[in-house]
Amino acid sequence: MLRTNSPAHLLPRASTKEASVWGRTRKQLVADAGGGRSHPENLPLGRSKRRGGQYAARTMSDRKTILVRVTGPDHPGITAGLMSILAENGADIEDVEQISLRGHLNLGVVVAVPEGRDLLKELLLFGWDENVAVDFELVDQVPSEPFIGHVITVLGSEVGAADFGAVAEVIASAGGNIHRIIRLARYPVMSYELLVQGGDLEMMRAELIAVANERSIDVAIQRQDLGRRAKRLVVLDMDSTLIQSEVLDLVAEEAGVGTEVSAITERAMEGELDFEEALRARVRLLAGAEAEVIDRALDRVALTPGARTFTRTLKRLGYKLAVVSGGFEQFADKVASELGLDHAFANRFEIVDGKLTGELTGRIIDRTEKASILNEVAAAEGIPLEQTVAVGDGANDLDMLAKAGLGIAFNAKRTVNDSADAAVSVPFLDAILFILGIRRDEIVDADNGGSL
Ligand SMILES: [Mg+2]
Repeated sequence: MLRTNSPAHLLPRASTKEASVWGRTRKQLVADAGGGRSHPENLPLGRSKRRGGQYAARTMSDRKTILVRVTGPDHPGITAGLMSILAENGADIEDVEQISLRGHLNLGVVVAVPEGRDLLKELLLFGWDENVAVDFELVDQVPSEPFIGHVITVLGSEVGAADFGAVAEVIASAGGNIHRIIRLARYPVMSYELLVQGGDLEMMRAELIAVANERSIDVAIQRQDLGRRAKRLVVLDMDSTLIQSEVLDLVAEEAGVGTEVSAITERAMEGELDFEEALRARVRLLAGAEAEVIDRALDRVALTPGARTFTRTLKRLGYKLAVVSGGFEQFADKVASELGLDHAFANRFEIVDGKLTGELTGRIIDRTEKASILNEVAAAEGIPLEQTVAVGDGANDLDMLAKAGLGIAFNAKRTVNDSADAAVSVPFLDAILFILGIRRDEIVDADNGGSL
């Protein structure tokens, strides 16, 4: 539920004409806001384009545009007090930005003020009373336009000044400017989000990958647009992504052929062997093993750290989740039911008379099939591919990562890292939440029974 102390949430619906807010009717409120005429949606039917002068700002010639900066120890009431002085002096608010850092307030308000008013003196007195510094600067009358820029997420067990400096240097040399920096998390990793205006995306991407490799941090760059926030489906690989092992290796160990099988697994995940051939070769080594080796292997499966936080948080946000595995169904089904995933796809051992035959049955899930399944699940859920995220670590995940709106390599092989949209090398699955712009505080709040 949306919680707000603002009277705005009390605004009556259009049909309840007589209702009022603080004694004012809705009609008066709309009139105060310019009669609603300046909103592009209020154009008459059939007219969709802006017409000359329709949204022209009022004449500014008799007014000064000033940036008022308030800094100092934060406490409740500063913004309210400041706004009330501005309102009494007929100042028009053009822009507001505020941040509080370790209890220290940084508030910036751009106001257009009429000439000849004694506003500045009043503001200085206000600062004195509230124990904050107030200063002023004449600024450009033309508002800075909202921009579609890039968002750069930095992750690391530590993100030091030198790491920050290296990232900032890449941005600057690509012609970008850092517009805002937000700390997303201190746990389980440090994470910051940088909103960047301008700059060449491809140039920044290439150089940020180099900085990330050099400095043992993760850096992801995405376009800052609606698509970034509208992700609704996450498709995850299982082995070495959702869980810490390769399930075929576990089964093979239980069947006594661990060494032979894991040697092939390693080469297959590096992309050195054809996935299906390598899969069939390994399963063949299991021929004759009792089916109970699967149960014993199941007991040894451990989730990747952060997997529960990751899936629980995304489910709260209404995401659909799927596991798409080149491993086996008994494992994918267990993981899916444990984590409450919506879909599970995996390969199947052929079992006859309680024994593995060394063959597979049904659809073989290889690199191409993983990408097809992403398509199928997205279509079944009615979610466009741009709104999907795929996460994986192996060469067999490459097509799926490429097809998804956002492909994330998770503790992956180098070849996978290089072709994914983003690479995460910290060993916590929930670190991916930060790339999606979710803050640690929001995760904790939801766990403590917050609004979700
Ligand atoms: Mg994997």
